Amino acid sequence: MFVGHIGAGLAIGSVERRVNVGAFVAAALLLDIVLWSFVLLGRESVVIPADFARTHQPEFDFPFSHGLAAAIAWSTLAGAFAWIASARLPALRVRVALLAAAAVFSHWLLDVLVHRPEMPVAGADSAMLGLALWDSMAVALAVEAALVVAGLLLYVRDSGLARRRTVALAALVLVTLAFTVAGMTIAPPPPSAQAMAATSLVTIAVVVALIGWLARRPPAATR
Ligand SMILES: [Zn+2]
Repeated sequence: MFVGHIGAGLAIGSVERRVNVGAFVAAALLLDIVLWSFVLLGRESVVIPADFARTHQPEFDFPFSHGLAAAIAWSTLAGAFAWIASARLPALRVRVALLAAAAVFSHWLLDVLVHRPEMPVAGADSAMLGLALWDSMAVALAVEAALVVAGLLLYVRDSGLARRRTVALAALVLVTLAFTVAGMTIAPPPPSAQAMAATSLVTIAVVVALIGWLARRPPAATR
């Protein structure tokens, strides 16, 4: 899941508009940033199976990024980081920390819905969780599309952003949705796990940067 996490970040960003929503979108994608970094470092692995062209599901071994205990730890770390980073906004610190932690953990909740039972509770040898909605890909993609449209609508309503920024943000999110659907249906198998990791990290960086840039607060006079 990719664009669904962006929807969760946008929805959480609609709760606290004094922080750039790009930060919450990045938090909602943190576990995948960890995953793909760990794949490049050889700490976690992704295997492209022979039936990938039909299922579009790699096989993941990712206890440090997507295990339940790991996700709780990453959420706590993100909350602590947000608390430290918002030192200049004392009235908001606890709220921003809790929202950042919620954004990180939302990733695990959404992933457990779509992945096959391959998300460990704590460590690679523990019980595996996953409701396997990706086995019904059309339903999974409909849920993901609904999520991101809902997140986008929640965010742009009362966002105070100029109209052209709102239109650009909506276009960016919808293009990302189209790429997500294509990636899970018609895309050919990636050449390697390393290539998939590198492409994913670059895509996440570009999309988060664009969302953060579009959502930045201009001076009140130009809104
Ligand atoms: Zn993930």
